[in-house]
Amino acid sequence: MIRFSCSACRKPLEAEDRGAGRTVACPKCGQQLLVPPPIRKETAFSETDGGDLSEIPQKTRSLGRGSSRHDKPSKYPVARILITLQRVAAIVIAALWPIETIYIAVGTDSKPIEKIAVIFGLLVGHFLIILWILFLSELLQAFLDIAKNTQETAESIIALASRRREMAEEEQDD
Ligand SMILES: [Zn+2]
Repeated sequence: MIRFSCSACRKPLEAEDRGAGRTVACPKCGQQLLVPPPIRKETAFSETDGGDLSEIPQKTRSLGRGSSRHDKPSKYPVARILITLQRVAAIVIAALWPIETIYIAVGTDSKPIEKIAVIFGLLVGHFLIILWILFLSELLQAFLDIAKNTQETAESIIALASRRREMAEEEQDD
């Protein structure tokens, strides 16, 4: 069975294999059409069930390059939000230190040596918290990268397998 579509109205059409090369009139719009030779991509084609030849390259594209960078940001949105929040938290904590320092230096009536000790302690504390947050966010980012790479590898294996299957079916047809 040859599947093709009207060049004028895009109506999906079918013809027997032996009809290849004959001229037919489109039953919908009357356009004179040359029945194309049988296309060996019919399996990929019939899955779409749309009967439109233009769907073949689209399907091939989605198999081959489905892992383009365009559709990546939408994957793992929670993890991405988490990474952003962690970085924002690190900045906020870093910004809090001078504020607390000023508050301790001006606002309390303890001895200068105690103030310096508290301020230094806060500096170390903030530094460690920020380090920990950035470590977690880098860890999460690394997991995302691994997941992305794994998915891309899986997609290319699937694309390769389906291409092999198509080739095997072509051989069977011949
Ligand atoms: Zn037509």
